[in-house]
Amino acid sequence: MAFIIDGKAISTEIKDELKQLAAEKKAEGVEVTLAVIQVGDDPASSVYVRNKKKGCEYVGIRSLSYELPGETTQEELLSLIQELNGRRDVNGILVQLPLPSHIHEDTVIRAIDPRKDVDGFHPQSVGALCIGQKGFVSCTPAGIIQLLKRSGIEIAGKECVVLGRSNIVGKPMSLLLLRENATVTIAHSRTRNLKEVTGRADILIVAVGKPKMITREYVKEGAVVIDVGINRDENNKLCGDVDFEDVAPVCSAITPVPGGVGPMTIAMLLNNCMESVSLQS
Ligand code: NDP
Repeated sequence: MAFIIDGKAISTEIKDELKQLAAEKKAEGVEVTLAVIQVGDDPASSVYVRNKKKGCEYVGIRSLSYELPGETTQEELLSLIQELNGRRDVNGILVQLPLPSHIHEDTVIRAIDPRKDVDGFHPQSVGALCIGQKGFVSCTPAGIIQLLKRSGIEIAGKECVVLGRSNIVGKPMSLLLLRENATVTIAHSRTRNLKEVTGRADILIVAVGKPKMITREYVKEGAVVIDVGINRDENNKLCGDVDFEDVAPVCSAITPVPGGVGPMTIAMLLNNCMESVSLQS
């Protein structure tokens, strides 16, 4: 049976380190502050926002909450972002996605000052990651690198396959693995002979959004399997993109869902908030 990578424990370890740092900053008179904006009342978004605020509270980061009605116009949202960009007491700005369909997400993301872009979605942050410069990194892939490192799993020189090429997970994930000196392949819905490609991976990262799609036929014996997916199965139970029961016996390490990648995303958001202070000084 594989080693189960405990994202909950590792994320708590990171949050405790951040708590210490936040206390040190506070002693220097700096109260790290995150502004969280939600437009509308999508129930899944409300859960994410609540968990992010809870994370802030745990670590000692001040969170400012902006819960705007669903009919808020793009101009109103942009003007709030401009105001927050200009406030010296606000270090990070997070706009919870998805936004209602009348608001253009790209325009909103571009409006955030890149020095406050704690989600790492601004084109400047993505570009910086691409050419190895300082900037915010998208939280989920950054969290996966921490999961691997803190579990003692070496990345350099390994064959890594990232299944999925989204802007928030797959693409930044592959860039981060490259930065860690892995040999990286990105697979997607147009990849031919998918099982053959994923079967080459020493480390397989799965972010497809398809419940339990990855069974043991996709996995090399002894591989490390990281499951990013958050789905509901036929019984409405949370599950990943990997069929855990089927894959765990053949791999060397695996993340569960829930309790794997999920908690790391918030820990890395809080980490980005702490880093934002030095980017702004
Ligand atoms: P997207 O839907 O944006 O991207 C899915 C990717 O998977 C696409 O690149 C798509 O290929 C590829 N894909 C879809 N079906 C197949 C298939 N049958 N074979 C091969 N490739 C396929 O998803 P996200 O990246 O946003 O999210 C992925 C999963 O991760 C979701 O379950 C989401 O809920 C979860 N998630 C979890 C987070 C966490 O904190 N744990 C954070 C963010 C996401 P193509 O590009 O060709 O269409």
